[in-house]
Amino acid sequence: MRKIDLHIHTTCSDGVYSPKEIVEKAHQLDLNVIAITDHDCVKGYRQGRTYANKYGIEIIPGVEISTYYNDYELHILGYFINVKNRNLKVMLRFLQAGRYKRAEKIVKNLNKFGIRINIKDIYKQSAKSGVIGRPHIANAMLEGGYIGNYNDAFVDYIGNDGPAYVQKPSYTPAQVINIVHSAGGATILAHPGILNNDFLIPDLVDMGLDGLEAFHPFHSSVQRDTYLMLAEKYNLLVTGGSDFHGINKAHDILGKAVLKEKYFQKLKDYCAAKVKNR
Ligand code: AMP
Ligand code: ZN
Ligand code: FE
Ligand code: FE
Repeated sequence: MRKIDLHIHTTCSDGVYSPKEIVEKAHQLDLNVIAITDHDCVKGYRQGRTYANKYGIEIIPGVEISTYYNDYELHILGYFINVKNRNLKVMLRFLQAGRYKRAEKIVKNLNKFGIRINIKDIYKQSAKSGVIGRPHIANAMLEGGYIGNYNDAFVDYIGNDGPAYVQKPSYTPAQVINIVHSAGGATILAHPGILNNDFLIPDLVDMGLDGLEAFHPFHSSVQRDTYLMLAEKYNLLVTGGSDFHGINKAHDILGKAVLKEKYFQKLKDYCAAKVKNR
């Protein structure tokens, strides 16, 4: 049985390990198929590809795109995308630039609370040209001695309900779905169980959503079964992965959350047919 993990982050967004290190870890853990799905960025996939080929690991192009629907945050995974697609590149550039602007706003908010970090402290936390995310801001706060532990940054300040939180500039879910489709990919709602907004699923399906990430380490078995059932109901693909960031030991699950081959094959066939029919 092949070991398949379709949700992994690297230093190209808010992961701790570089694409090279991720592929080496995947090799050590005997993973056969991986997708690097960095936030709003495909550089991790491009860098990882060379190493994956060396180890005979199948690496599929992926991305995790942040969007909002009626102020609810959604993450949409794109798989089997043509990373050279123009529309996709334009969207990712916009989202990456938006993340910088948003980080500056969050820093201003934090300053009001006496947290004297500046944007350069945040750049220090992200890899050169890596996409800025809230984990980098949390690390800068921790390094400055303003919080006791990493999670406090989210609980007290920058979590979605926190006083310093700012939304990212974004495309609408319908736009994200259309652009991923135009790049030949499939769109999957990431970790729906974490987002707690299942009532949006029918609307997303109407917009063309192709699948649900039923298998995720933070999903309970009840949630997993719910999403498998919803996938049947709406005739959707099913995916899964570890969502490994490498940030804390408690979430050291690379290679432990695996997707069954039958689901992966369906995704692959679906995308191949879509590209052929265009
Ligand atoms: P961003 O994409 O910049 O909005 O940051 C989102 C990332 O921050 C997620 O992928 C998680 O890694 C992290 N994150 C968000 N909320 C929390 C939270 N409440 N506790 C810990 N990490 C979080
Ligand atoms: Zn992340
Ligand atoms: Fe996510
Ligand atoms: Fe993720």
